[in-house]
Amino acid sequence: MFESLSEKLSGILDSLTRRGALSEDDVNAALREVRRALLEADVALEVVRSFTDRVRSRAVGAEVIRSVTPGQMVVKIVHDELVAMLGAEGETLDLEAVPPVPVLMVGLQGSGKTTTTAKIARRLSERNRRKVLLASLDTRRPAAMEQLAVLGEQVGVATLPIVPGQGAVQIAKRAMEAARLGGYDVVMLDTAGRVTIDEELMEEVAQVKTATNPHEVLLVADALTGQDAVNTARAFDSKVGVTGIVLTRMDGDGRGGAALSMRGVTGKPIKLVGTGEKIDALEEFHPQRVANRILGMGDIVSLVEKAAETIDAEKAQRIADKMRKGKFDLEDMAEQLAQMEKVGGMKGVLGMLPGMGKIRSQIEQANIDDSIFRRQRAVILSMTPHERRNPDVLKASRKKRVAAGAGVKVEDVNRLLKQHRQMADVMKSMGKGGRGGLGAALGN
Ligand code: GDP
Repeated sequence: MFESLSEKLSGILDSLTRRGALSEDDVNAALREVRRALLEADVALEVVRSFTDRVRSRAVGAEVIRSVTPGQMVVKIVHDELVAMLGAEGETLDLEAVPPVPVLMVGLQGSGKTTTTAKIARRLSERNRRKVLLASLDTRRPAAMEQLAVLGEQVGVATLPIVPGQGAVQIAKRAMEAARLGGYDVVMLDTAGRVTIDEELMEEVAQVKTATNPHEVLLVADALTGQDAVNTARAFDSKVGVTGIVLTRMDGDGRGGAALSMRGVTGKPIKLVGTGEKIDALEEFHPQRVANRILGMGDIVSLVEKAAETIDAEKAQRIADKMRKGKFDLEDMAEQLAQMEKVGGMKGVLGMLPGMGKIRSQIEQANIDDSIFRRQRAVILSMTPHERRNPDVLKASRKKRVAAGAGVKVEDVNRLLKQHRQMADVMKSMGKGGRGGLGAALGN
């Protein structure tokens, strides 16, 4: 899967990275090719459109980082947006609930639903040591019930005994009861499939859902069917509500459109993928890894990431230099607060500067609380540039206005000004310390 797309994308981007300068026209021309490649891979039009729009606006507004070429920047942006298209964080099954936790499996016939049910059951029992009970609700196809029983035996997971004549809801309730009595952790309910979506099927699934209140409703869809898989997911989601998607046949040579559009169109995460007929051919879906596989440009992506980190460190260093000279105004403080938020607090910023550990305790004595960074920055941004550079000019009436502008109390403004004074004093005293002060701490 993704082979043809991968080949095209890496061709387009490769030629960008080999150029020194890029004009907006160059980026637009490349994006037109990217757009065509995605459409040929059967990615939904709306997803392609929002993808190229986002890449374009980010590429045009991108901060130019020294030591990487514009083309490399574009690769990184395309990579990030691909990851976002695939579902960013990546999600897995959520079974955190009071046992027995019901999991409802839904999907069209032939999508691989029963096989996937057994694959998940095996994974839960072998890897996660959960006690799983399987139940087939396919009352119209006795063969499907048999198939689940055989698969259950194969993976060493119990199946609910078949009682002829019961309806789907009845079986589901019986499964939950049996699981409660038997001390099971998870109950997997394999609903009936149909060749196409019909009202009767949806109604039955909805009734089972109401009766069992499942923690996960997993839609199984065949990746080889491309946009049909996406449409099926959308239909099931609007009729019964699904919590996640399992895409099967990712081992086939499909174009990848289903995987790439699923999140964008349905808003639901792909939680697992089927990668073969064997019972252990089930994998978690990692957007990062998939994007890397599609682009095949992992080196460039990590190069740009490293360069961006260096920029942050350089900014912090500039502030440190100003501090050392005893010049530390509210603009510097705002910039520093923004940096701190980005890297996770005071300790994160200090951690980026070589040798800063030595003055950590002095800064800590200035009593700075990480949780108020954002509010403090809002206060500073409500001031005029002149006030930021010369905080002493702030009189009571202006403080009131600034507080209102930032949505805080006047006391908060005063506290910020006091903190700034304390910090500036600490900086100044360290600056005066010559080689024993901040200069030495920074290794200068
Ligand atoms: P159901 O009708 O949706 O329950 O479909 P089944 O579970 O019976 O699967 C139909 C066929 O698809 C079986 O031959 C499975 O072995 C096969 N299958 C299921 N998942 C995968 C997969 O991820 N990759 C491949 N190659 N085959 C699969």
